[in-house]
Amino acid sequence: MKIICVGRNYIAHAHELNNKVPDEPLLFLKPETALLRKRQAFFIPDFTNEVHYETELVIRICKVGKHIQEKFAHTYYNEIALGIDFTARDIQHICKTKGWPWEIAKAFDGSAAVGSFVDKKKWDNLLNIDFELKKNDDTVQKGNSKDMIFSCDQLISYISRFFTLKIGDIIFTGTPAGVGPVKRNDRLNGYLAGHHNLSVLVK
Ligand code: MG
Repeated sequence: MKIICVGRNYIAHAHELNNKVPDEPLLFLKPETALLRKRQAFFIPDFTNEVHYETELVIRICKVGKHIQEKFAHTYYNEIALGIDFTARDIQHICKTKGWPWEIAKAFDGSAAVGSFVDKKKWDNLLNIDFELKKNDDTVQKGNSKDMIFSCDQLISYISRFFTLKIGDIIFTGTPAGVGPVKRNDRLNGYLAGHHNLSVLVK
């Protein structure tokens, strides 16, 4: 399986990192080894001094597809979870400055935490899904899918122009504003439509 991630998909988040709002989706990949399995702790890697959480809606592909039209895209994913796109922000900054790819800042082991997948039929309107991240006892991020610049259907259509989507692939759909650092012993808890979905202990 592969993990496809979308950058800068919420206007307020693009602005908080002084990035321009993109006119087409910004994509990058993480390998399967980036997956942080449920109940595993996230270990801050030794090559970074600044790891940020980025809470995102994650969708799971349920059908093989290539060149998927937007109007059919909804049939290619069936489940939604919350995820954290852990990012070595200091390393990413160096990569950006040099014009290098982001992989060492974004795709390292354990950098893709994923909660429990929920059948998308639970929602009447996929364009209005609330989510939230708490760090220890504080709410640090709040998002809603209505604020995505590119919807899940638009993302699937765009991504499938370049990459064949296969069953089990997952897509991190971008983070809203409020990203910030983690330190050892932080507890991260994610809530999808008010229900607890994801829990990560930072080590
Ligand atoms: Mg992200």
